Amino acid sequence: MDSYDSNLSFGSFDFQSDDFVNSWPYEFSDNTTPVTSSTDPSTPASPAAIEQYGSTEFGSNHACKRRLPSSSPESGALARPRKTRRLKSPKETAQVRVKGACYGCKLNRKTCQDGDDPEGSCRSCLSLSLSNKMKVIPGLLRPLCWRPNIGSTEMFRRGPTIDFAASHRGNLADATTGKQASWKTFATRPSSKQSSKVVELSQGWTSRALAIQLDRYAPKPTDKQYYSWYDGDMEYHFDTPAYGISNLDATSSAIQSFLTQNAEEYITKHLIGACETTRQTFAIAQEYKQYFPLVTRALKLWVGCRFIEEPWSIIGTETLDISLDDNPNCPYHDRIPVPPIVDLQIDVITINDLLQPEMKKILKTVKEMLESRNPWKNWFEIYLAYFILLHNVELTMAHDAWFVKRNNLKTKYSNKNLVDTIMQGATTLLTCFHYAHQGYAPFSDPKMEESQSWNSRQKGYLADMRSLLATTHGDYTKDPSRELFWTSQLHRPNWRPLVLSS
Ligand SMILES: [Zn+2]
Ligand SMILES: [Zn+2]
Repeated sequence: MDSYDSNLSFGSFDFQSDDFVNSWPYEFSDNTTPVTSSTDPSTPASPAAIEQYGSTEFGSNHACKRRLPSSSPESGALARPRKTRRLKSPKETAQVRVKGACYGCKLNRKTCQDGDDPEGSCRSCLSLSLSNKMKVIPGLLRPLCWRPNIGSTEMFRRGPTIDFAASHRGNLADATTGKQASWKTFATRPSSKQSSKVVELSQGWTSRALAIQLDRYAPKPTDKQYYSWYDGDMEYHFDTPAYGISNLDATSSAIQSFLTQNAEEYITKHLIGACETTRQTFAIAQEYKQYFPLVTRALKLWVGCRFIEEPWSIIGTETLDISLDDNPNCPYHDRIPVPPIVDLQIDVITINDLLQPEMKKILKTVKEMLESRNPWKNWFEIYLAYFILLHNVELTMAHDAWFVKRNNLKTKYSNKNLVDTIMQGATTLLTCFHYAHQGYAPFSDPKMEESQSWNSRQKGYLADMRSLLATTHGDYTKDPSRELFWTSQLHRPNWRPLVLSS
């Protein structure tokens, strides 16, 4: 039993082994209860509630009761005299609270208690596996006892890497090895009585401009006032005047409205060269976004991520007295860049005010939907949101490859930590998706459709996808910055995580 235990623990799970037959120890009953919202106070057994209160020896009713401040200890003791004996030690309860209940226990609303080996499977998973209640699905990733951590998924950078930052202001932590620096928004103080200037900015995707107000400021020695560019191996500088954003809140609102107004055009323009699978999926996502809040959020995140990739240029008549470079090889021969410190401020505002809060909400919803008793109920919404998020990973990685080229770097990625983090995030998301839906994708099993209440447009999309996927071949499975590398993993039956070296 000891060896059985350690073989099945998540820690020693071999993702790459083809012989490993994973098993699903939890039978889903046919009359699954409807998905319940964790915010609904009448739903005592929501996974969130269990998580919040730690897994107790008692069912969720007791977890809920604990919220009542004035329940008499005597009546409680009378009601459950034997159960109190089985309460875990406070230390153990605290550990479970940190670790969280395993996926199976959450789904079955059971107490998640460590077995004899605290690193191994939990007690209920072990007993299910020993009592032959396992439903074996060949080839599927199914570690016996598993604690997915969707909440810690990262999909975009938290700011520039220190090496390429226009300033070290706003940096909260050094980007030491294995650690991603996170940046906070920072203000620059106006340094002269000169009146503010409003510049109109664009990334060239739409005809509308993002208008923001700038002031002259006194730079610190670490604030960069130029852009480097290369002609062959020669480095040149393109100088810019010292301007910073006048008002962070106003700029944040301006970026939010710019996103709302330009989202559709950003998507359309970016997908012009995309393959049929990507375009059709974004088309149905945009059609259905009003019914699927998660998809709306994913699209918003996708567009916001483009804001922090491409450089912003000044397109209006106010140019801060910057003129174009005479050299035709210079990237600023035909566009005026926004000063580096402003570019950095826009970056950090977008990340902190827009992307981070959106990502938090997305992950919370995804987690609730996947961990609900019926993860099929929201399959379409989850799938479309996933596709958008994973496509974003492809674009983010492609952008890093572009950045490496632009800056003449000799490495494969400019920000290896970020690339590793994002690839791990994408893999976690995919693991949860396939795990929750027991590996059966409607793409591999058309009969699935009949048991679902999808409409003809949705079914039509799935049918189109099936035939498209059957004819899609190429080397996209080798390069994580290629289109379809990540999104196609949603369609793959018998999916397994890919181990990548970056
Ligand atoms: Zn458990
Ligand atoms: Zn377990």
